[in-house]
Amino acid sequence: ARNLGRDCISVYRAEIKTDVKRDLEIESQIRHALGQGQFECWLQSKVVADGSVDGAEALVRWRRADGQLVRPDEFIPVAERLKLMIPIGIEMLQQVAQVIHQLEQAKVPQAIAVNVSPVEFLAPNFVESVKEIFTEESASLSLLTIEITESLLVSGEEQVQQRMEQLRLHGVTFSIDDFGTGYSNLVRLQRLPINELKIDRQFVQQAEGNPKHKALLDAMLSMAKALNMKSVAEGVETAEQADYLLAQGADYLQGFYYAKPEPCRSWLEQQLKARR
Ligand code: C2E
Ligand code: CA
Ligand code: CA
Ligand code: CA
Repeated sequence: ARNLGRDCISVYRAEIKTDVKRDLEIESQIRHALGQGQFECWLQSKVVADGSVDGAEALVRWRRADGQLVRPDEFIPVAERLKLMIPIGIEMLQQVAQVIHQLEQAKVPQAIAVNVSPVEFLAPNFVESVKEIFTEESASLSLLTIEITESLLVSGEEQVQQRMEQLRLHGVTFSIDDFGTGYSNLVRLQRLPINELKIDRQFVQQAEGNPKHKALLDAMLSMAKALNMKSVAEGVETAEQADYLLAQGADYLQGFYYAKPEPCRSWLEQQLKARR
């Protein structure tokens, strides 16, 4: 038994070592990638009831030197832990500001949403950075939507409300991402400057086969109305889902049924062509 115990400990230590080694490796890869401009902003359209595109959500993609694309789920958790999500987020905001600038230049202004994690939102100077970037790129902050998660709101940081209100004064709108999966304090939700609830795709996709999910989906859509917020349903993959959501009064739909995320340049070209 003693031997076994010792083995376990040494295995455990070996695992920790491997993790630390792997993190260090990813850390240096991310730093390198930032220097090389390998983080790209992709855009996924949001559509309204008549099927026309109105704005998009920015999703980060890491294009490695060999051309291989890395999906966010593979590097965001590590980047968050190492606080490297902060410079990656800045990179995204810059690219989004450039897209907004071009939309405005072409007289087809549309809101672009960016995902901002709690680490990024609470970083020192977040508000100043956002303002600086948009001034530098001559883009209107009123076309920026920030998607935050319920976890930021329940973190209870006083900073959160202050920063939201500061940004709100400059025209920034806020959307609660993955709504329904966290533990929002509904009273607090109503007091914060939130414009939009984004209903998590699990409710959208499972509503058909699961009466409880359907009831929750319906409740969330009515709640958005009651709170005077817009609703966005994400992960729409079928015509049936789209029809149901529109019948229930969802304001915006997003999902593979309408469009997949694509490089921002091609999304932008499409928009400039379509509205000319
Ligand atoms: P999210 O914000 O909930 O984004 C939606 C995810 O669902 C995206 O995955 C998108 O590609 C995917 N999706 C969109 N439509 C459909 C659909 O119809 N069906 C299915 N099955 N999936 C769909 P992605 O791009 O891999 O991003 C994963 C998560 O990574 C995001 O979830 C978000 O939490 C995070 N993320 C992505 N980009 C950024 C970023 O720039 N900054 C931060 N902080 N987080 C980001
Ligand atoms: Ca999102
Ligand atoms: Ca989401
Ligand atoms: Ca999600």
